[in-house]
Amino acid sequence: ALAVDLVEDSPYRFRIPPRAPMRVPGVVFASRDLLADAEQSLEQVANVATLPGIVGASYAMPDVHWGYGFPIGGVAATDVAQGGVVSPGGVGFDISCGVRLLAADADGRQFQPALPAVMDGLDRAVPRGAGPGGVWRLTGPGQLERILYGGSRYAVEEGHGEERDLIRCEDGGAVGDADAAQVSARARERGLAQVGSLGSANHFLEVQQVAEVYDETVAAAFGLFLGQVCVMIHCGSRGLGHQICTDHVRAMDRAMARYGITVPDRQLACTPVDSPQGRDYLGAMAAAANYGRANRQLLSHAARGVFRRAAGTRLSLVYDVSHNLAKIETHEVGGRRRRLCVHRKGATRAFPPGHPELPADVREFGQPVLIPGTMGTASYVLTGVPGGDAFFSTCHGAGRVLSRHRAARTVTGRELRARLEASGIAVRPKSWRGLAEETPEAYKDVSAVVAASEGAGLCRTVARLVPLGVVKG
Ligand code: 5GP
Ligand code: MN
Ligand code: MN
Repeated sequence: ALAVDLVEDSPYRFRIPPRAPMRVPGVVFASRDLLADAEQSLEQVANVATLPGIVGASYAMPDVHWGYGFPIGGVAATDVAQGGVVSPGGVGFDISCGVRLLAADADGRQFQPALPAVMDGLDRAVPRGAGPGGVWRLTGPGQLERILYGGSRYAVEEGHGEERDLIRCEDGGAVGDADAAQVSARARERGLAQVGSLGSANHFLEVQQVAEVYDETVAAAFGLFLGQVCVMIHCGSRGLGHQICTDHVRAMDRAMARYGITVPDRQLACTPVDSPQGRDYLGAMAAAANYGRANRQLLSHAARGVFRRAAGTRLSLVYDVSHNLAKIETHEVGGRRRRLCVHRKGATRAFPPGHPELPADVREFGQPVLIPGTMGTASYVLTGVPGGDAFFSTCHGAGRVLSRHRAARTVTGRELRARLEASGIAVRPKSWRGLAEETPEAYKDVSAVVAASEGAGLCRTVARLVPLGVVKG
């Protein structure tokens, strides 16, 4: 392992000077406080800096913590034309895990009487836990294939949503370049029975309320106002994405030597973007990304049904972002426009105001960025800023500080539920153990993470949301 020095360049910006075999420096956006106990994840930042074709720096966001090969909260871009690699570890096992925010046409005071019925309705309507079971029973493998190519677009075409949902979704609801032929039989089998399900306990569906607005104009453009009720959904591509990651890490691990690539940690297995293994992975990854989007679309549709029946309230999509994905993007580096493979793992894309890929109605304000915090504290809506660093990326959450195991030793699920309910937060868990593993104490202070992200010039705050009720895996 590389020993890591950390040099403070400016407030919220630290540098890990490159030493062989690092090809670029590490750049860590954080405060000293947020980096207490970050030793292992900083070593991972340095390891990532050794990857062939990496440009700029190996970046870490303020919520950085240890992950498989790459840290969670890591961003790394490689130059496709210079033999730049793609690594499944730079995306993670939950491919295209992400967050979606829906805004209700009601404020908290109007809504409060309906909350218990809404929470009970969501408890019944939202499939969750580790195993199979989803809101959509597929008629067969043909339908899964259409999800792998069509993402939330296909779900909407089948009646599970409205046209506007696609406009307010990253990539219009479906990424191109999916190649379902690279999705193994085992991955399909795992995916078939889980379409429209949350998964286990770090994933959630939360009823929230806008507690503070930092920028009225931007909030209004996003569709948000003070006091408003919202729904935040966090989930990914379930067993299908996990299996794809497993399959392709194995294939790359076998193929790496052929390209003369050596990495300091086998979990960084990678091959050039422009190689059969690289293309196969990116095709399968895009298919999983579409599955993840369809998954969030179906859960949104289920939540809409509950809100309509139990509260007479409509939900409109604010935005849908993915925080585990690699994308081919063009950025200027060293005075030249270059095609890069940008890995964001536990990091959110944050396009600046005016970016052509943003939906027309929010374009002039920047991309909405959705940051879950914890079920007991707060979550945030941010926006991208001009000149955003790290290829226009920012944090993705509060970031874990306690392992699941350690978190579950601090409190029982029943105690935690009682504590949250006493502070006015309704809790509908599937598993007591899963609930305890997600205790707010298991995470960094989301407000400090957001302040560091904003202080580092990665984004700007738009609104703070507080939980009213949480549905957990
Ligand atoms: P990850 O994608 O790394 O599993 O999780 C993203 C973030 O979700 C975590 O860093 C944490 O801040 C946040 N999170 C986990 N559970 C909950 C929850 O129940 N409610 C909210 N609002 N955030 C959560
Ligand atoms: Mn996930
Ligand atoms: Mn996630």
